[in-house]
Amino acid sequence: RFAEVQQGAPIEVFAVSKAFSDSTHQKKVNLSVGAYRTDEGKPWVLPVVRKVEVELAADTSLNHEYLPILGFDAFSTAAAKMLLGASHPVIAEGKVTAVQTLSGTGGLRIAADFLGHVLKYNTVYYSTPTWGNHRLIFLQAGFSEICQYRYWDAESRGLDINGMIEDLSKAPENSVIILHACAHNPTGVDPTQDQWKRIADVVEERKLFPLFDSAYQGFASGDLDSDAWAVRYFASRGFEMMSSQSFSKNFGLYNERIGNLVVVVKDPSCITATRSQLTLLVRGSYSNPPCHGARIVSRVLSDPVLFEEWKGCIKTMSGRIIEMRKGLRERLEKLGTPGTWDHITAQIGMFSFTGLSAKQSKYLGEKYHIFLLSSGRINMCGITTGNIDYVAEAINDAVCN
Ligand code: PMP
Repeated sequence: RFAEVQQGAPIEVFAVSKAFSDSTHQKKVNLSVGAYRTDEGKPWVLPVVRKVEVELAADTSLNHEYLPILGFDAFSTAAAKMLLGASHPVIAEGKVTAVQTLSGTGGLRIAADFLGHVLKYNTVYYSTPTWGNHRLIFLQAGFSEICQYRYWDAESRGLDINGMIEDLSKAPENSVIILHACAHNPTGVDPTQDQWKRIADVVEERKLFPLFDSAYQGFASGDLDSDAWAVRYFASRGFEMMSSQSFSKNFGLYNERIGNLVVVVKDPSCITATRSQLTLLVRGSYSNPPCHGARIVSRVLSDPVLFEEWKGCIKTMSGRIIEMRKGLRERLEKLGTPGTWDHITAQIGMFSFTGLSAKQSKYLGEKYHIFLLSSGRINMCGITTGNIDYVAEAINDAVCN
């Protein structure tokens, strides 16, 4: 049997990171994987997270008993309030329920399983391009129609809003549509509020089901409320919808796999049955989630002093990224690198969709040991004051070459 197994396609982002690790070049730079780095190029444990971890370690009343199947309730409730805003009418009206998930990916997978197996959707739309995992998640959840809507306009290096609206208006009724809540990955380009309104109009008209992927709240602009605007707006329009929240980036808790799936329904009486079906899905896939990240996040979100400290941390991260965007653009403009570079500062979040071609990206890896995805997406956090000149000069060479 095993002799019949075919080699699977590599996951590019991990393959590129491995190429970086394997490189012995002194100036090597990793611009691939989406993780925050300090200006020293190091991973960052948020000081507020460290503080809570020390407290948790000293608390002998805690143990390692199983969590309930749907996770730590205090965490899920606090996280849903963070996403929707504590005073959102849908919360007051009892239309919201939330369950802890295995980070953002796990939230999307449970959402896909629920949408496919329980609500019987079989068609999903995602943006071109999108985060590489969306397709795989829905494929493995059994969706038979996996479709795309236009999003990125290579010419203007911005959003192709008319293409997007046109594609959505042609989508069959009862399709699921994946929307990035903020800091679209990989393009860093988000719709404006007016554009979101147009998108909501089509979603309503075509009876589409909005599934928000919220992986960067607070991390994008440094402001939790503006990064959640689209989700809150859709909820206020009365849609039934789901949102998968990740705490990987904004809490730096990547390997703790802490996420939350927020469900908004029209009729509060549907919540009990919905939770019972989610319970069966989780039970059959991983039984129950881990606790460490849920304890940290719920503690920070429910303590006003820690909450302020955390907001300071997300400002530090988003602020450093914004500085690096400015620095890179300035350098490329100063070098006279052919093309326009204002998109680097216009885009938000962790990534910049540089416009570099696959050939140029490969050239950067081979000649300069600067590793990025073939799509030209770079993780801005890989750039530091120590390597920004090197990166800018290398990009200049790649473009001129
Ligand atoms: N969605 C998007 C758009 C992402 O960029 C990511 C992280 N790369 C995720 C979801 C999920 O990440 P995680 O499973 O680590 O929370």
